[in-house]
Amino acid sequence: MANSYDVIVIGAGPAGYVGAIRCAQLGMSVAVIDEYRRKDGEAALGGTCLNVGCIPSKALLDSSEHYHRVQSELAGHGIRVEGTTLDVPQMIKRKDKVVADLTGGIKQLFKANRIEWLQGHGKLLAERQVEFTPHKGKAKTLTTDNVILATGSRPIEIGAAPLDGDRIVDSAGAQEFQEVPKRLGVIGAGVIGLEMGSVWNRLGSKVVLLEAQEEFLSPVDQQVSREARKLFEKQGLDIKLGCRVTGTRKGKTVSVHYEDSEGKQNLQVDRLIVSVGRRPNTDGLSSEDADLLTDERGYVHVNDYCETNIPGVYAVGDVVRGPMLAHKGSEEGVMVAERIAGHAGHVNYETIPWVIYTDPEIAWVGRTESQLKAAGTPYRSGTFGFAATGRARAMDRADGMVKIIAHAETDRILGVHMVGPQTSELIAEATLAMEYEASAEDLARTIHAHPTLSEAVHEAALAVGKRAIHKAN
Ligand code: FAD
Ligand code: AMP
Repeated sequence: MANSYDVIVIGAGPAGYVGAIRCAQLGMSVAVIDEYRRKDGEAALGGTCLNVGCIPSKALLDSSEHYHRVQSELAGHGIRVEGTTLDVPQMIKRKDKVVADLTGGIKQLFKANRIEWLQGHGKLLAERQVEFTPHKGKAKTLTTDNVILATGSRPIEIGAAPLDGDRIVDSAGAQEFQEVPKRLGVIGAGVIGLEMGSVWNRLGSKVVLLEAQEEFLSPVDQQVSREARKLFEKQGLDIKLGCRVTGTRKGKTVSVHYEDSEGKQNLQVDRLIVSVGRRPNTDGLSSEDADLLTDERGYVHVNDYCETNIPGVYAVGDVVRGPMLAHKGSEEGVMVAERIAGHAGHVNYETIPWVIYTDPEIAWVGRTESQLKAAGTPYRSGTFGFAATGRARAMDRADGMVKIIAHAETDRILGVHMVGPQTSELIAEATLAMEYEASAEDLARTIHAHPTLSEAVHEAALAVGKRAIHKAN
C-alpha cells in the first residue's frame, strides 16, 4: 500500500467502483477503500448493488418467474410439466453464485486497471487526508489530491418493527429465506417492497403489503400505477394503502399492529420484510475538523457536479441527493473522474430511467402528467396497449401499456411511462430519444421491427398525433 494517491474513493458500489475505473483509465493512481463483508466474512467489491441489491434481487425475480411459469403458464402453451418441486436453498445458492461471479469480475477489473483495493473503513480527515482502518490491523493516514465519497445507503429501520435478522428482516434478509413463508408481510409498497413481495408471492407466499401513503407508487405516472395495481392484485398481492404500522409482537408468528382509516388492525404473518426506504451512510464518514457539509437527512451536500463544500472532495451515488439508482451513481462517478482529469463531464438528471422489476415491469423516464400539470406545461399524450401488438400476444404477455407525453407546442418528448413486458429494456429507446431531445414525431417516423414489443412505443408516439394504426384514435 502506498501512502499517497491521485484519488482515493471511499465505497466500492456502482458509484465508487465505476468512478475509480474511469479515474484509472484517465491515468490517475487510485485506491478504493471498502468495508463490505459477505455473510461468510469475505470482503467483496460491488457494494449494495452487487451484493444485496440490484443483482441478487433480479436473480431471485428470474428464478421465481421460471417457477411461476411452469406452475401456471406452460400448460397454456401445450407444455405439461408434472411433479415440479421447489428447492429454495438451491435458488439462493444460484443467486449467491451470480453475485460471486460478478463481484469477482470487478476484482479483475481493479487488477487490470491497477486500482488498489483497501479492505476496511475509510474516513475523511481535514486537508484531504483519509484515515484507513483495515479489518485487521492499525489505522493509517493516507494523503491524496482528490477524494470521492461513495459510501451509499442502508435500509431505514423503524421502531415499530425492529429487525431480528430472522423473522423481521430488511431487503437483504428477504433474499436469504431458506423456505417459502406461508404468510409474508411487507411494510412499504415501494420499489423494493414490491420486488421482494413479488418473488415470494410467485413462490407461494400469501403476501400483504402495508403502505403508509394513500396513493400507490406516488412517483409513477398515475395511469400506469393504476394499471399496475390492478395487475398486481390479480396476481394475489394484497396492497393495503394508508396504513401506519404501530408495533409488532413476536410469538409463534409475527403480529403486526397497524392503523388505517377504519381504526386499529392486526395482521398475522410468518415473516415480515421492512422496506420503508434507505438512508445515506454518513455516520462516522468524516472527522469534525474536515468540515464536510451534510443536510438535515444526512446526505452529503453537493452541487450539480457532485462537488462538496471542500475543494477536491466529491460525493456520488446514494450518499447524495437524487434517485437511489445504481446507474445514476455510476454516471456521477464517471462525471467526477472526467472533471478531475480536466474534461467536461456532466450528468443529465432529466433523463435518468427508472425501472421496477415486477411482472409486468414498470419503467419510466422524464416527467409524469401530474408534474406537467402542476408546472402548467402544455402537453399532449398518446397511449398504446400491449394487447394490440402481435409480439406481446404471441408471448402471452399482453398486459400493460406505453404512454408518451410530448410538449403541446414543440412536440418534444417530456416523459415516457410504461408498464408491460420487458419495459426495462424498452425504456432505453425512450431515454435515448429524450437525450437527443427528440420529438414524438421523430419516434413516430422511426422504423420499428415487426413483430416486436417496441412497436408499442412506436404506436404510442403515433398516438400523440392521434394517428396510431392499430387502435381507434
Ligand atoms: P452502495 O452500493 O451502497 O455501496 C457503498 C459501499 O460503500 C458499500 O460497499 C459499503 O459497505 C461501503 N462503505 C460505506 N461506508 C464506508 C466507509 N466509511 N468506509 C468504507 N466503506 C464504506 N438500483 C438500480 O438502479 N436498479 C435496481 O434494480 C436496484 N435494485 C435494488 C434492490 C435492492 C434490494 C436494493 C437494496 C437496492 C436496489 N437498487 C437498485 C439501488 C442500488 O443498489 C443503489 O442505488 C446503489 O447500490 C447505490 O450505489 P452506491 O455506489 O452509491 O452505494
Ligand atoms: P422505496 O423507497 O421505493 O423502497 O419505498 C419505500 C416505501 O415505504 C414508500 O412507498 C413509503 O411511503 C413507504 N413507507 C415509509 N415509511 C413507512 C411506514 N412506517 N409504514 C408503511 N410504509 C412506509
